[in-house]
Amino acid sequence: MLGYFLRRRLTFIIALVAALGWVFAQTNISPTLANNRAAVIHQAVLTIDSHIDWPIRQSVNPEFDPGMGHETGAPGSGQWDLVRMAAGGLDGAFISIFTPQRALTDEGYAQAATLAHQMIDWTEQLTVDYPDRVAIALTPEDAYGLEHQGKRAIFLGMENGYPLGTDIQAVQTFYNRGVRYITLTHSKNNQLGDSSTDDQQLWQGLSPFGETVIHEMNRLGMMVDISHVHDDTFWHVIGLTKAPVIASHSSARALRDVPRNMDDTMLRAIQENGGVVQLCLLGDYIKEIDQDPRREAALAALSEQQAAWLRGDLSEAEVAELLNQYRAINAQYPEIKPTLADAIDHLDHMVAVMGIDHVGIGSDFDGGGGLVNIEDVSQMPNITQELLDRGYTPDEIRKIWGGNLMRVFNQVIDVAKQLQAEAES
Ligand SMILES: [Zn+2]
Repeated sequence: MLGYFLRRRLTFIIALVAALGWVFAQTNISPTLANNRAAVIHQAVLTIDSHIDWPIRQSVNPEFDPGMGHETGAPGSGQWDLVRMAAGGLDGAFISIFTPQRALTDEGYAQAATLAHQMIDWTEQLTVDYPDRVAIALTPEDAYGLEHQGKRAIFLGMENGYPLGTDIQAVQTFYNRGVRYITLTHSKNNQLGDSSTDDQQLWQGLSPFGETVIHEMNRLGMMVDISHVHDDTFWHVIGLTKAPVIASHSSARALRDVPRNMDDTMLRAIQENGGVVQLCLLGDYIKEIDQDPRREAALAALSEQQAAWLRGDLSEAEVAELLNQYRAINAQYPEIKPTLADAIDHLDHMVAVMGIDHVGIGSDFDGGGGLVNIEDVSQMPNITQELLDRGYTPDEIRKIWGGNLMRVFNQVIDVAKQLQAEAES
């Protein structure tokens, strides 16, 4: 009988050989890359990005066709489409059903729920339009199966629990539509709990309704995502959840002290909980860099308009105008961004604190992510190259690229089965 490690190694070699054939068969990857060790590893492992904000981009740019390729960095190209996903060897992504937050009222909840359902519709439509290239995945097994078919896997993650309103049934409703994680809050406190970036706290952690949402997510087998939540909310969740949790896009506070990142005590708590922290590639969370003061001033001048947009007080034309102004500022005074290597420093730190089994990648593309040398999904192989250069082994790279996240997802599903069995007995 083969030992576990030997079996795993054999599986890996078989996957490598299969990947080699695949690399040569693809026209969009050059033959020189096929001889490159990083490219071979990148093709062999399941690669999952746990946070891509395409739907909110789509809501302001309905003409965008994710089935078409777009040039990296070109105006309106965004950072994700199916062509670049394939070119970048990205097998799967959690597409973010993100809704901007307005008042905590039934009307506000209902509007957000409508938008969330629309975003799920758009994502489903994509799989109808391009059935040979992409499909919705509901389980890790689905993702591995789609990888073997050479199709992209799309998971749904909900960012901001705001559309749930105050009806616990809504969790099941969105689960039934395919949502497999919920980021409890976004940048403001909501009806579930406190956010890491609001002016003051509302609940001192989770709200009573937020507590019932955690129980319901555990029962259904949805991953609880603690990115964006206040530290008090984080600890409240850790004390309450029966399943491992994820941070779908967060980095290390030890290297960049912002509330959106996680300090070492929180990282160790995630390790103990069995969960995973997915490195976020958003410049401000990675490294503090002095920007051109003229850029800062121009952006500050738009802050009121931006707040009005988030409150829902701008017309479509005003939103379009605001976005044009952002584009103009970015063109005139481009943001000075940290590099991919700066981000991988965070990953190194997280591995040093938590070990290799609790880290992954959540780019936040189309939601603020993007650094020098990792500007969109087509450049994902650069991550593998950087990891290899730093001495990570192929098996460690496999864990970082999705192995860990899929393990956690399977554990969350197992906990749900246990809880449902207990409830029936
Ligand atoms: Zn976010």
